Amino acid sequence: MAAAKKKNLVYPVLGVGGRLIDTHCHLDMQPYGDDLAEVIDRAARHGVDRIVTVGIDLASSRSAIRLAEESPGVFATIGVHPHNVAGITEDDYRQLQALADNPVVVAYGEIGLDFHYNYAPADVQIEHFARQVNLAKQLELPLVVHDRDAHREVLDILTKAHPFPAGGVMHCFSGDSAFARAVVDLGFHVSIPGVVTFKKAEVLQTAVREVPLDRIILETDGPFLAPEPRRGRRNEPALMLFTAQKVAELKGLGLDEVAAATTANAEKLFRLPRAVK
Ligand SMILES: [Zn+2]
Ligand SMILES: [Zn+2]
Repeated sequence: MAAAKKKNLVYPVLGVGGRLIDTHCHLDMQPYGDDLAEVIDRAARHGVDRIVTVGIDLASSRSAIRLAEESPGVFATIGVHPHNVAGITEDDYRQLQALADNPVVVAYGEIGLDFHYNYAPADVQIEHFARQVNLAKQLELPLVVHDRDAHREVLDILTKAHPFPAGGVMHCFSGDSAFARAVVDLGFHVSIPGVVTFKKAEVLQTAVREVPLDRIILETDGPFLAPEPRRGRRNEPALMLFTAQKVAELKGLGLDEVAAATTANAEKLFRLPRAVK
């Protein structure tokens, strides 16, 4: 049944030469274990020909690098997610720093604060977020920031560490227009997830209307948060077409215009080669 439905899924279609970059996906996670090559291939066939796969701890940062080395069009980030900072050691920091030298590494993160789940105590999250922000600056890498139910505290730490010559992104943006403005004022990009396609995402939809197009990039955050019409299932980079289409609708623009702008923004932020490597 599921397979039959999948066949019938009609993707929005990019114009000739149109391409998208999934700026945040977790390709090393278990849901992609069996068919990762197919997932990457399907994405490329629909125009999502570059994917940034994101590290959440030392092991997944290594996996991200390995995937990026093996797969054309895949790039890596390194860092320790707020869920995982409780066990971080000095040696982890030394190893992260060493991994940053790899040319497939395009950003530092995801790092940040998650006061929704609070898997690590708040003070520990804050300490290691601030420390990793400074490490990213020292490494001259853009920041990939995760913020869940911690808008004020995230802004606080970033404001103290400002400026960010290499830029950064508030990934899976979940704030309102005022928060988006504050993020943009820090020189950051706002990354829009599939959530924007959900009926009840009015606050996010309003923020998307108001954020300047040159500050917007797109992501899946796969395997999580699949957009409509795949909500609740495994997310994957090809499905980002539906997110792009929704952003275009909210902006009153064509899909190709949004694809061209968000792709150029992501290329610039992550300093990606223009051609598929
Ligand atoms: Zn995240
Ligand atoms: Zn993530």
